[in-house]
Amino acid sequence: MEFIPCEICGVTDERELSTRDRDGEYLRTVICKRCGLVYTNPRPEISELREYYEHSYRLDYKGVRQPKKKHIVRAAKVAAERLQEIRGYIFQGMKSLDIGSGGGEVAYAMQLMGLEGSGLEPNEGYADYARNVLRLPIYSGCIENASLPQVSYDIITMYHVIEHLHGPLKALRSLHSSLKTDGLFVVECPNAESRCQAPSHRLHRAHLYNFNMTTLQALGEIAGFHTVRMSLSSDGGNITAIFRKTYSAGVLPDLTHNYQVVMKAWEGHSKMGYYLSKHPYRRFTAKALRIMKEGIVALFTRKGETLLRKNLEKHLLPPSTQKQRRWSYGLAGTFAGIALFISSLWSISSLMDHSEEIRTFIERHQDGNDVFIVVHGNSLKGLSQVPGVVLSQHKKELKTTIAGIMRPNVDIHLLVEDDHLHHIKETIETASLKTMKIISVRGNAYHFLTTETHYGPKL
Ligand SMILES: [Zn+2]
Repeated sequence: MEFIPCEICGVTDERELSTRDRDGEYLRTVICKRCGLVYTNPRPEISELREYYEHSYRLDYKGVRQPKKKHIVRAAKVAAERLQEIRGYIFQGMKSLDIGSGGGEVAYAMQLMGLEGSGLEPNEGYADYARNVLRLPIYSGCIENASLPQVSYDIITMYHVIEHLHGPLKALRSLHSSLKTDGLFVVECPNAESRCQAPSHRLHRAHLYNFNMTTLQALGEIAGFHTVRMSLSSDGGNITAIFRKTYSAGVLPDLTHNYQVVMKAWEGHSKMGYYLSKHPYRRFTAKALRIMKEGIVALFTRKGETLLRKNLEKHLLPPSTQKQRRWSYGLAGTFAGIALFISSLWSISSLMDHSEEIRTFIERHQDGNDVFIVVHGNSLKGLSQVPGVVLSQHKKELKTTIAGIMRPNVDIHLLVEDDHLHHIKETIETASLKTMKIISVRGNAYHFLTTETHYGPKL
């Protein structure tokens, strides 16, 4: 075991959060009082961890050395969702690398989309599977000791790896040097502020770092990246960051407020609150539904690669190019109907705590000159009490609202549900605003569309 300073601040100024992991075993977790980064301290030596990942990590998780058919179905769906998320940033002919490529699903999906997909994977069984069965170029090893080619990739992706790394900053700097100029780096990890797991289940032995949006963004920027987009998954459990390679020096921003934000989220998450929320029940229905679907789909396909390709095509390619046999989904549909009915009951309840989550989001992103217009207010009336927030319907009212607020030095942000984006597009374009950020709200997910994916008039 070794004691370490904060990865972001480089100093030790910590507070102990917990001494147990989710299995009740000893694991000391601390929070940095300067930036809010949550991490394991002390932690196992690098050699102990390497041994664990190379031989037992996947076994611990799934009880197999190579992916089973049901795991392929699940991995295909996850890979398709990941590519959908970054679809606007990927183009045919790009060279991509997936770090921690597992069974090769993301690299395979990239190839299906016309990119040169490749991967890096420490687990021998999974790396062999992706190389031999899927015929993918996969490097063996961990990011921390791999010698990757320099200035070679247009896009590097890293899903649920960064929280496991001994030296995440060093790894990000190494990936930065492997990217071409303006290359993209996509990273996803669990959210330290998440409430979708029971409080006692938050800390995982294999996760050395627990980031929230602020600390993940800070780490990327210190490594020399420019932030393109930060977003949360629909249940708030995961953060996705899209960074672009720049040559800026990488300055540490002032993060002192983030310590309070993380502490509030940590202490505010109670066992009772969790069981009264929609999360455990939504998780249960989603899991039941998923197991049924996976079983049925796997039943009708023999070969692992065919199963992967068909499932990726279903999610990624337009219907005209799919050669899908739909009949096998009939049975799944019946079960899905029942499960959806149950889960819809919980979606209704999710409307009720919607405004609380948006309030937290606004408070976190607000500084002096920001006014947030929350478009479509019916379920969000509670927000009108929040300073700096104005509620507006999307129809005629929005134009008047914008006109009423617009002043020099005021930055107007819109919070818009995805479904309503098309209603307000014209309003945004005709209003001559200098700065306009749009945040789309889908369920309780917030997608911060920064100026780089600008929706309004040109700056
Ligand atoms: Zn720190």
